[in-house]
Amino acid sequence: AKIKEVDFVKSSIRAKDCPQDERPEFAMLGRSNVGKSSLINFLVRKKEVALTSKKPGKTQLINHFLVNKSWYIVDLPGYGFANAPDSAIMDWSSFTKGYFLNRESLVSVLLLIDASVPPKKIDLDCANWLGRNNIPLTFVFTKCDKTKAAKGRRPDENIREFQELIKDNYRQKHPPWIMTSSVTGLGRDELLLHMSQLRNY
Ligand code: GDP
Repeated sequence: AKIKEVDFVKSSIRAKDCPQDERPEFAMLGRSNVGKSSLINFLVRKKEVALTSKKPGKTQLINHFLVNKSWYIVDLPGYGFANAPDSAIMDWSSFTKGYFLNRESLVSVLLLIDASVPPKKIDLDCANWLGRNNIPLTFVFTKCDKTKAAKGRRPDENIREFQELIKDNYRQKHPPWIMTSSVTGLGRDELLLHMSQLRNY
C-alpha cells in the first residue's frame, strides 16, 4: 500500500472533463476546513501536492492526482463555506452530483467528517444523499486527536452520534469508517490498506 509517487494530472470543471481513464479512483469530499488538504498531504507525505487545489480559483474544481501511476486521489470542492450564500451550496450540488452519478471508475467516496465537533446538518445531508443514491462510501473522521472538543464532547461521542443519525439511510449495510488525525498520524496505515483492499476487490 506504499505511496511512491504522486502526479498532479488535471483540474476539471465538470464530470465530463475528468480524465478518460479506467484506473480506480477515490474522491475526497468534505466541508471546507474539515482537514481535507491536511489529510491528502498526510496520506501522500508530500507537502506540495494538495496545495494545488488551495490556489485561488482551483478550489471549485475537481483535481485528479495519480498515485503510483495506478490509481487516483480526487480532491473535490469543499462544501458549506462559512459565508457562502445558499445559492453557492446549490451550485456545488449540481456540479459535484454529476461527478458522483456518472463516474464509473469511482471506487469509493471518502467523506471527511470533523470528529471534534457535534454532527452538522450539512454533513448529515451529504451522507444521506450519497447513501440514498447508492454511492460507495467510506467515512473518514478527521481531527480525532482533539480531545478538548467543542461543547466538551469527545471525538468518539461525536462519531457515535453521527452514525446513529444516518443509520436509517443505510439499511443494507453501514459504510466502513476510519478515525484519523493528520497531527498524530492516526489512521494513515488503516486508510491506505482500506483503499488497497477496495482496489483489488
Ligand atoms: P480543508 O479546508 O478541508 O483543506 O482543511 P485544512 O487541511 O486546511 O485544515 C483546516 C484546519 O484544521 C487547519 O487549521 C488545520 O491545521 C486543522 N487540522 C487539519 N487536520 C487536523 C487534525 O487531524 N488535527 C487537528 N488538531 N487539526 C487539524
